[in-house]
Amino acid sequence: MRRGTNLPWVGDYNQAVVLDGIRRHPGTSRTELAAATGLTLQTVSNIVRRLLDRGLVQEGVPAGARGSLAPARTRAGGKPRTALSVRPGQALAVGVQFEREHVDAVLLDLSGELLASVREQLPDPTGPAASVRPAVGHATHAVRRLVDGSGCADAVLGVGVAAPGPIDFTGPVRSSAINLPGWRGVAIADLLAASTGLPVLVENDATAAAVGDLWRSPRVGRSFLYLHVGAGIGGGVVVRDEVLRGESGNAGEVGHVVVEPDGPACSCGARGCLEAVAAPVAVVRRYGERVGAAAARAAGLRLAEHTVLDDHDRLELLARGGDAVADEELARAAGAVARAVLGVVNVVDVSEVVLGGGGLRRTGERVREAVRRGLGVAMTREVHPVTVRSGEAGELAGALGAASAVLHEALSSTWTGVHVPDREIVISPVAPVH
Ligand SMILES: [Zn+2]
Repeated sequence: MRRGTNLPWVGDYNQAVVLDGIRRHPGTSRTELAAATGLTLQTVSNIVRRLLDRGLVQEGVPAGARGSLAPARTRAGGKPRTALSVRPGQALAVGVQFEREHVDAVLLDLSGELLASVREQLPDPTGPAASVRPAVGHATHAVRRLVDGSGCADAVLGVGVAAPGPIDFTGPVRSSAINLPGWRGVAIADLLAASTGLPVLVENDATAAAVGDLWRSPRVGRSFLYLHVGAGIGGGVVVRDEVLRGESGNAGEVGHVVVEPDGPACSCGARGCLEAVAAPVAVVRRYGERVGAAAARAAGLRLAEHTVLDDHDRLELLARGGDAVADEELARAAGAVARAVLGVVNVVDVSEVVLGGGGLRRTGERVREAVRRGLGVAMTREVHPVTVRSGEAGELAGALGAASAVLHEALSSTWTGVHVPDREIVISPVAPVH
């Protein structure tokens, strides 16, 4: 659990610490919170009273996700203790994730539980209908479906958007998404705030995925790299629970680490970037070039911009079935990922690598193994192990992370990565428990 401080001028920070402690440890008591945070029992009691008044916390722990409350008061060591838990439905957030082929939206509650998700297909980004407006229209529709379907629209704090970087956070929030054609300089937050009527924050998709992983984890003091493989490749870095955002919110662009100095040209202007070598679109394109379009189609690929992830999945199946070209190209990509990850791990000294995103639906095991092997020469290998695993959020990692970022920002953190046009995220008062 994070440590609080008893200095009087940081009351809000302490409230965030206490709420975070209750959220991560349902059933904890005021006494345990005081011991874990270093705050006095009186300070904890005052904060808990405020949280109870706002309806964000309750006495007792739900037996099931929405079940009845277990007895709130038990006796431990002769002293009565009152178990505390959050009231998950009192604060909701929507997360939106744009991919080349579709937009995903999720509804998350305060406990981090996924309440609902929707996916809307986007027009083929190379076709005549491709532009920002239809994509924002689909996203707006998806958000509306979730908010209206929630039955408690008033509890929705805002919308988090996971967008491919780099993102210009300096003016109105512009997402200059070089991976999505036609998306340069799009003020995605302004557009979505106007179309949904909700506060919007934007986060780099890989950083959002990292925030989501952090938000749902009961453990504290984590240091990890989240490698997100979607249309492009990005990274989110967390060091001892702090999200590394960099000078402009664009830290972690692992996709533009050079892995093959004489490799293919990258959209960023460099040569041999990880993304140019290992992103699903690059792997599928190379396979098509090597075997020819007709043979690729005969093998089940569709070779359209909006079918890249499906085609990429197909390549893994072909490789397992003995297709040597598919196997070589996927191995080249996995090796490139492993080289880039090793470099990042050596630079930032993390103890976990989390792999996620739609580009790893089928190739996850292959990439995980390559990364694990690559880390065999990590500088810290004799100091601490570096574990490699797949993110539990799967393909929705960016959307879940973006929703988590809204909750994280609104309720429990000192993170400064929020960018809300015109309005602040405000927690409206809720009715007391009856
Ligand atoms: Zn690049």
